[in-house]
Amino acid sequence: MTPASPLSVASERSGRAVLRQLVEQHRAEPLAPALGRRGLGTYRGYAELLVAIDRLVQTGARLATIGRSVRGEPLFALGVGAEPEPHRRTSVVLAGLHPIEWIGVETALALVGQLLESRLGDRSVVVVPIANPDGLLRVERNLRARRFRFVRHNAHGIDLNRNFDAHWGLGRRTVPWVFKPGASPSSEPEVQAIARALGTRRVDRAVSFHSFGGAVLYPHAHSLLPAPDAAEHRAWARRIAAAADPRPYRALPSSWFGVGLRQGGLELDWFHERHGALSLLVECSRGGVGLRPGRLFDPFAWFNPPNPTEVAGRIAAATLPFTRGDRL
Ligand SMILES: [Zn+2]
Repeated sequence: MTPASPLSVASERSGRAVLRQLVEQHRAEPLAPALGRRGLGTYRGYAELLVAIDRLVQTGARLATIGRSVRGEPLFALGVGAEPEPHRRTSVVLAGLHPIEWIGVETALALVGQLLESRLGDRSVVVVPIANPDGLLRVERNLRARRFRFVRHNAHGIDLNRNFDAHWGLGRRTVPWVFKPGASPSSEPEVQAIARALGTRRVDRAVSFHSFGGAVLYPHAHSLLPAPDAAEHRAWARRIAAAADPRPYRALPSSWFGVGLRQGGLELDWFHERHGALSLLVECSRGGVGLRPGRLFDPFAWFNPPNPTEVAGRIAAATLPFTRGDRL
């Protein structure tokens, strides 16, 4: 007997029960009014995001629990399009590896909504919208308590986007208190869960949402040399960069994004090398500090624009052709 797929119908039923239980457990005052008054944008808290996930399931997305975080929060995956099968071409969307980058989570959820209205043919799409729930909850507690904190890690203090099993450990000394890769490749339960859920899938496209560089990045992250398939990556990155914002984003290899920032352990290289996927990392928006000095000292505002619905919808629409498997 083959083991149950992590995205099977059985896991969907239990996943939904877990989801509803979690909503009750984390229920809190809506976050948007408080943030709106502070000019931080109408962002949703964890329980509200879970309600949004449940709504997407009601409109046709499949739900699975693919693992648990360090503190035991379930890690949810949403499935759209054809049922996942090992031979089937699969697109993967990740968001929220870095927990303060909330615009990425909103973008992933907006993209699921758009994918549900798209014709995906034989393609399966897997979306992990909140890859670091412990971190997201920590950011939410800081926001509610008006604590200005930069939060980048999981509950072990590890940077999940340096923990993937691709050139792991490279660049760890660049800014060692920020880029903390963990004890070994995939040492963190969140990264393990993603790797396990996708292990047998034929992933040929992947996009991970971060913020806030206003850029679409492509492999390599670990090397300054161009990837063999750099031309196809560049073409997709440019197309998405042009559509993501009225003032187009930049499109460039990840290792060129910051001087001396050759880095290992990124999802970008992991999808590209382990799965042979076209792999993109979108740095959503240009942040939300703008001309409002009141937001200057709040790290949340550095990473998140004050108009999330508009920005998320636009970036989702820009990445939709890539994720649904269109050709260039
Ligand atoms: Zn990030």
